[in-house]
Amino acid sequence: SSELKGKHVTVAGLGVSGVPAAKVLHGLGAIVTAVNDGADERARAQAAELEALGITVRLGDGDTLPEGTELIVTAPGWKPDKPLFAAAERAGVPVWGDVELAWRLRGPDAAPWLAVTGTNGKTTTVQMLASILKAAGLRTAAVGNIGVSLLDAVLGEEQYDVLAVELSSYQLHWAPSLRAHSAAVLNLAPDHLDWHGSMEAYAADKGRIYEGNRVACVYNAADKATEDLVREADVEEGCRAVGFTLGTPAPSQLGVVEGILVDRAFVENRQKNAQELAEVADVNPPAPHNIANALAAAALARAYGVPAKAVRDGLRAFTPDAHRIAHVADVDGVAYVDDSKATNTHAAEASLAAYESIVWIAGGLAKGATFDELVTKSAPRLRAAVLIGADRALIREALARHAPEVPVVDLDRTDTGAMRAAVQEARRLAQAGDTVLLAPACASMDMFANYNKRGDAFADAVRELGSVDG
Ligand code: ADP
Repeated sequence: SSELKGKHVTVAGLGVSGVPAAKVLHGLGAIVTAVNDGADERARAQAAELEALGITVRLGDGDTLPEGTELIVTAPGWKPDKPLFAAAERAGVPVWGDVELAWRLRGPDAAPWLAVTGTNGKTTTVQMLASILKAAGLRTAAVGNIGVSLLDAVLGEEQYDVLAVELSSYQLHWAPSLRAHSAAVLNLAPDHLDWHGSMEAYAADKGRIYEGNRVACVYNAADKATEDLVREADVEEGCRAVGFTLGTPAPSQLGVVEGILVDRAFVENRQKNAQELAEVADVNPPAPHNIANALAAAALARAYGVPAKAVRDGLRAFTPDAHRIAHVADVDGVAYVDDSKATNTHAAEASLAAYESIVWIAGGLAKGATFDELVTKSAPRLRAAVLIGADRALIREALARHAPEVPVVDLDRTDTGAMRAAVQEARRLAQAGDTVLLAPACASMDMFANYNKRGDAFADAVRELGSVDG
């Protein structure tokens, strides 16, 4: 907008959000300087691309505030305690993230936002939500932290009726003026605490998603921390708190009654009875945590006003992304399931809760997590555990403390071939009817480029088992 014309704006961090942000700002007539900590090959290529447009780029120093800066637009991942931001604060320079920039430029005018955050389940829920909105005939897209930039969504050619927006805690931290139509916090478990500084700060950043909501604040009735955030939020008059539960819903909640997803949130004034939305069998996969995701998506869609039938149609049309509880194959009566995306203990706990008798493949980078709670809760379901990766000793020790009866194979390996060995070991331990579940509870970067590659290695190893058997 015109207020940015001629303004000195520093874009902090090149990459998926920085490069588009720098281009947009430059296009609006701002005087842009892009700064970046690193100066690797990728950064140099991006710098060349921006410099060709006439944008100033400074590589290798992301900590000094460029002279004359009036606004910083930062990549969401930049830590709030970086010297650049301390300098900005001293100079009275505001800091926006890419989401804040999108919101300020065209947020409310482009389309209302139905926003989702939480420690786990964001991507799945936002995709379910988009599927439901599409089933209602609305023009929509799943955008944000899911890999589609909000800047592109709000400034692009395509017209939307409503957006399904995934927001990370980092993005929320840097988006102070965002006001969603409705929003959901799916759950809150310790994650990224090194970035936020404390659990309180992490929760506070997540809680920003409710600020200024117009229609509904959706919370998880089984996770009191999410309900507390709703209570603390400053919302528009008439905005309702809507809970979701895997049990029978109280008034103003969505829940499950005899295998049916029901909605008492938006019918309570008109009708006493709950309204049917879908069946548990319509949710893919029908694991408990995923039914919770479906209820959250349904709550947001209903808040926007879609009919109950669209919830069913949208859930039926939804297929999960790869590496999220993906069934790879059955070999000798044993199911092999890839949940490589379970990169923290809270996610792994959810996927382990979905099966009865499990040979669990786990391990990787723990990111400072402890495994006592996960192991204690999951122990009754474990046939055995096979451990790989850099921090596997932490899991081995937790198993020894809380589940000494569970056989553990510590492969003592961090090479990429370890996954193949783990699958073969798991096959030896599994009995017909069991599930071999890759739910690492850890990040993948000690052994693999990312969780996708880790899941692919698992699936390849499983297919190899199958083909040997014929
Ligand atoms: P996110 O986008 O928040 O990372 P995803 O939808 O990609 O979430 O799911 C990541 C992993 O988290 C899944 O593979 C699964 O193990 C776990 N998960 C998904 N939904 C939930 C939930 N509601 N509660 C706990 N764990 C979940």
